[in-house]
Amino acid sequence: MNTQTTQFPMAKNHDKVWSDCLTVIKDNISPNSFATWFTPIKPIQLVNNVLTLQVPSQFFYEWLEEHFIDLLKKTIKKELGPEGRLEYSIIMDNSQSNSESSPFTIHAPTLNKKALKNPPVSFPIDLNKDKNIPNPFVIPGLKKLNIHPQLIDSYNFENFIQGDCNRLARSAGLAVGQNPGKTSFNPLLLYSTNGLGKTHLGHAIGIEVKTHFPEKTVLYVSSEQFTNQFIDSVRNNNQNDFIHFYQMIDVLIVDDIHCLAGKEKTQDVFFHIFNHLHQNGKQIVITSDLPPVEMKGIEPRLLSRFKWGLSADLQVPDYETRIAILQKKIYNDGVEMPREVIDLIATSITTNVREMEGALISILAQSSMNKKEITPSLAAKVIEKFVRNTPREITVEYIQKMVCEYFSIPVEKIHSKTRKREIVQARQLAMFFSKAFTKSSLAAIGSKCGNKDHATVLHACKTVKNLADTDKSFKKYVDELENIIKVKM
Ligand code: ADP
Ligand code: MG
Repeated sequence: MNTQTTQFPMAKNHDKVWSDCLTVIKDNISPNSFATWFTPIKPIQLVNNVLTLQVPSQFFYEWLEEHFIDLLKKTIKKELGPEGRLEYSIIMDNSQSNSESSPFTIHAPTLNKKALKNPPVSFPIDLNKDKNIPNPFVIPGLKKLNIHPQLIDSYNFENFIQGDCNRLARSAGLAVGQNPGKTSFNPLLLYSTNGLGKTHLGHAIGIEVKTHFPEKTVLYVSSEQFTNQFIDSVRNNNQNDFIHFYQMIDVLIVDDIHCLAGKEKTQDVFFHIFNHLHQNGKQIVITSDLPPVEMKGIEPRLLSRFKWGLSADLQVPDYETRIAILQKKIYNDGVEMPREVIDLIATSITTNVREMEGALISILAQSSMNKKEITPSLAAKVIEKFVRNTPREITVEYIQKMVCEYFSIPVEKIHSKTRKREIVQARQLAMFFSKAFTKSSLAAIGSKCGNKDHATVLHACKTVKNLADTDKSFKKYVDELENIIKVKM
């Protein structure tokens, strides 16, 4: 029985209905979004007021549902009346003769292989309800095997010294490396201050996976690189390729996730990739400078995902571990160094392994350039210079702390919504100094100072400058605070 009619006097077919929908949709979203998310859609049929659309992937469908559902709902109701419904059909790739051996196929238990070979498979979607539809799908086009993991060989477990400071993180990392996606540590989130081994451990996990499962696709990526790739994909109108690329990863290691603070669009796309990978049993490893509960400027729904697995911190290594790290490095480099010198380094630099290694390298360089023997006195001179010349990193959090101490107000006030004059002023000063002394973007600063946008930060910076130019007592605050903050540099 063919009931391809509607209650409209002039029978419309699926092409006509969809092209009318597109006219409305086009007026309501950016040309970029339209090109990315709507041009790939094909109308397939219209039966009993149910319009079936073909979309390229499950991910694509989820994205539409999340971002455009209201618009779609309104448009469909407008074109088909209150009874109008949408149904999606997710493309299966015909080009692979045998889906079983295809590296792009993700199997789900609900559909058998027959369904895979008989595309398209339709899934009824009720516009009025949220539904999760498990289904297998195929990503066409991209060659999975070509993904370079971006791993650094020397950052392996063998070179990562174990101590009380890192026992949990290291053993969880090892478990994940030997059993990716199969432990409850998914995601595994590693956090610490600078220079304590997060990046090293992240790589080590990737290397471990590659050793045990060479066929698995591993990717190490910094959050900065991820962001830039995403921005490029938006600019070049190939967001879909970007997403498909990340969907193919078996073990995704994302370094310094705190760098996504305030970057809403990037967080949004990462959220979807995260969900997709997690749902499909893929492993995610994340590093950050703070534990999820203290992260600022990251969407709550992402933060809650981060708490699903295990968060493990890396602490400052104790004296014995510092010695062991130095000895390992010296051994690997094939050099020799008197024990007193090693001892001197380990006692002079105590809170940052990267700096400790930096001092070691400087000492080696000094001795070989000047053809001098490595003595404790030579080492002491180098270390002294090294420590003095190593700029301390100034963070937005540090600046907030200094500003709040100066005015004797609790730091929480800066994050609150209060518009009390003294708090507003402290917040503006924190923004001003963060802009001056950190590399954080305006958006990142804003998100850490009471969840403000970049325009508010810009305004704050101007206000502080103007006030300092016109108000002597305010200028005194600014100067004194500047000196306090600079002590760390
Ligand atoms: P983070 O990412 O936390 O800033 P990194 O992973 O870059 O720190 O580590 C800084 C340096 O210290 C690297 O060269 C790393 O190899 C070394 N390092 C840190 N922790 C250890 C450890 N436990 N054993 C050996 N080397 C370490
Ligand atoms: Mg790092």
